[in-house]
Amino acid sequence: MSKAQVFLVMLIGIFSTTSCQQQRKSESMEEEQYVLAIHGGAGTILKKNITDSMEQAYRAVLEQALIVGYEKLKQGGSSLDAVEQAIHIMEDSPLFNAGKGSVFTHAGKNEMDASVMDGKTLAAGAVAGVRTIKHPISAARAVMEKSEHVMMAGQGAEQFAKKVGLELVDPSYFWTQSRWDALQKIKKEDHAKTVLDHDQKLGSRLGIVNKDHKFGTVGCVALDNQGNLAAGTSTGGMTNKKFGRVGDSPIIGAGTYANNATCAVSCTGWGEFYIRNVAAYSVSALMEYKGDNLQQASHAVIDRIGKMGGDGGMIAMDKFGHVSMPFNTAGMYRGTVTKEGKIKIAIYK
Ligand code: ASP
Repeated sequence: MSKAQVFLVMLIGIFSTTSCQQQRKSESMEEEQYVLAIHGGAGTILKKNITDSMEQAYRAVLEQALIVGYEKLKQGGSSLDAVEQAIHIMEDSPLFNAGKGSVFTHAGKNEMDASVMDGKTLAAGAVAGVRTIKHPISAARAVMEKSEHVMMAGQGAEQFAKKVGLELVDPSYFWTQSRWDALQKIKKEDHAKTVLDHDQKLGSRLGIVNKDHKFGTVGCVALDNQGNLAAGTSTGGMTNKKFGRVGDSPIIGAGTYANNATCAVSCTGWGEFYIRNVAAYSVSALMEYKGDNLQQASHAVIDRIGKMGGDGGMIAMDKFGHVSMPFNTAGMYRGTVTKEGKIKIAIYK
């Protein structure tokens, strides 16, 4: 290479580095400040399997949840209030695997898990395996605020919910045809196998990943006017789960975590992998101890889960209102709202 050629290569190098830096800078300058993010579960969610009207229906519920959460924050409500209210909307919808739309256990029952965490105080509450609480997320919050405990399970949790005046329903309230059919299909194919909506291979083989199946744990993270972060997650768990199986969703640090110093996280995915990776807390720990930013930390955790063979996703928000929503599945129902009230909803990759 002649001297002139070397000089030219150097010039090109300098020019492209500068323009890259400028591009990155302007991208970060345009970065939105978010106040709330939600998910309605990750899994084999493919455009070709969802009709337009189905997609509209999902979007409508997600939008309503975002609006309700945003209004709370706008009125000066706490991030905890916003998280709880937004999750109620999704718990009331049969489209998501939480509350009304919860999946069935092997024994043909609905057993729900939920948790919530306050980033300001690091207080947390959770319920596991509950069958009669209409809004499990509110029971989790009551455990946090009205008891000296962090987690309550089964009938004890239900007695407590009754004592604090939460709405209880007959277990039949949670019965839906599509979830019931999904359980029958799974049992017919492989009686022993527990199936997650995130189990793409088995799910497709069983034909449970089609337009009739509306899986999806729900979660929300929020940042209020006071700079307080909160996170919450609510789920029916996984279809055909057995023997009182509890997933990551009610486990603080696995499915849910919030700390004003770092971030708020709500996960969805193959619970066993999230528990073993202490997923939600790991995002916070990577930020706190390693100095990762939200994007790096959340992606690192999802990558790790993927390498171990697990799938799913998460939503994460840091104290500056940045949002990260990584997932290693075909899709994840998700949505965000900015400080100015701008709503964005996405489903596929
Ligand atoms: N993580 C939940 C569980 O394992 C399932 C889900 O996210 O859909 O119970």
